[in-house]
Amino acid sequence: MKTTFLRLATWARKLVDRRSTLGSARLLLVTMVLLGAMLAGSGYLAREATEQQRQAEKWQERTFAVIDNLSSVRVAVLSIRRGERGFLLTGDPAFLDPYTAGIETLDREVPEMRELLAESRQQAERVDQLTVIAATFVSQAQRTVALQRAGRHEEAVAASQLTRGRQLTNRVMAMLDQIEAVERQLMEQRENGAATAARRSDDFQGMLMVSGLALLAIGAYSSQALRLAIQREQAIRAELDRIATTDELTGLANRREMFTSLDRMIATARRSGRPLSVAILDLDRFKQVNDTHGHPAGDEVLRRVAEMARLLLRQQDLVGRLGGEEFLIAFPDCPAHEAVAACERLRQGIAALPVLLPSGVGLSVTVSTGVAQFDPSDDRKTVISRADEALYRAKKGGRDQVRLAA
Ligand code: GH3
Ligand code: MG
Ligand code: MG
Repeated sequence: MKTTFLRLATWARKLVDRRSTLGSARLLLVTMVLLGAMLAGSGYLAREATEQQRQAEKWQERTFAVIDNLSSVRVAVLSIRRGERGFLLTGDPAFLDPYTAGIETLDREVPEMRELLAESRQQAERVDQLTVIAATFVSQAQRTVALQRAGRHEEAVAASQLTRGRQLTNRVMAMLDQIEAVERQLMEQRENGAATAARRSDDFQGMLMVSGLALLAIGAYSSQALRLAIQREQAIRAELDRIATTDELTGLANRREMFTSLDRMIATARRSGRPLSVAILDLDRFKQVNDTHGHPAGDEVLRRVAEMARLLLRQQDLVGRLGGEEFLIAFPDCPAHEAVAACERLRQGIAALPVLLPSGVGLSVTVSTGVAQFDPSDDRKTVISRADEALYRAKKGGRDQVRLAA
């Protein structure tokens, strides 16, 4: 029992130590199944004990009936014997009353006893023997009484052979004692069986209580572990999601996420007929920044431009990094001239605020932007390429400016 518990506990710890959702869920399931099985077992044993108790009570009732029966037979035998002898010695027919009543009782009670004990073969055999002895006893008494009635007193006395009469009486009594002793013994055995079943059921209930509590604790522990494991998984999934959709350097939406969002906005614009504008923003002469101040300085500039874009644009405008030093901005619910104005604000903001490098150098950068308004004949590719074409013209036109696509 103790080792089983230890083994169970070690196994449970191992499962939960894996810190897996599956492990915790499995432990929880096993706990529930074990609890269920124990409850079922306890119910079964309790039923079994009750049934045994019921049987024992039934047998006890029967045994009491048999004992009752036996004492009636004893009284009957004594009455017959006393009646026979009284009549023989006094000739008074009043003695024949108990004698007759005794014979009637025997005729009634012995077959009844046979019936009550029919289920136990050995007891039934004893009653059969009793029937034979009792019949001999009765016929001997009847002969004596018949002779006495006929006035043949001497013959009656000879027939009665008192010693033989007593012998027969003793044999009947001995058989009755034997039947009663066996019956009491059987009753005791049955009662012991019922008591054992009740004790077993009680023991099991006790064990059920202790191990049930242990299992409940394990269940609570594993459901807590399951909760934590699920939380951990959710956090990991959210982090993976973030990594898959975010640009690592700037924290903006990455190219893939940007395209997905733009597709959604295009579908909405088509459905609602509301305007949607798209801009591509490219840093001017960025190669020079890298070449002059180093790649980390270039990275810092990219981060600052991203930050400015986030600060200066509306909440619903979506900014993402297309790659390199190129950014894509989507303006939902926004006609081209408003998008151009927003991009112009952003251009001025970037140009006005030099990026302070860790070396202490303040670095001014400018950006060129091409804007296109989504047209129902467009798809994602064509609207982007129209913005790209406007950006090309902005570069051609001397950079640090915003151009609208034709
Ligand atoms: P233009 O005004 O015509 O756009 O000139 P440009 O120098 O900006 O354009 P070009 O395409 O010649 O150079 C882009 C440079 O951007 C080249 C590359 O080294 C740099 N770049 C691309 N991605 C990154 C990045 O993640 N970090 C840094 N620091 N530089 C990058
Ligand atoms: Mg550039
Ligand atoms: Mg470029």
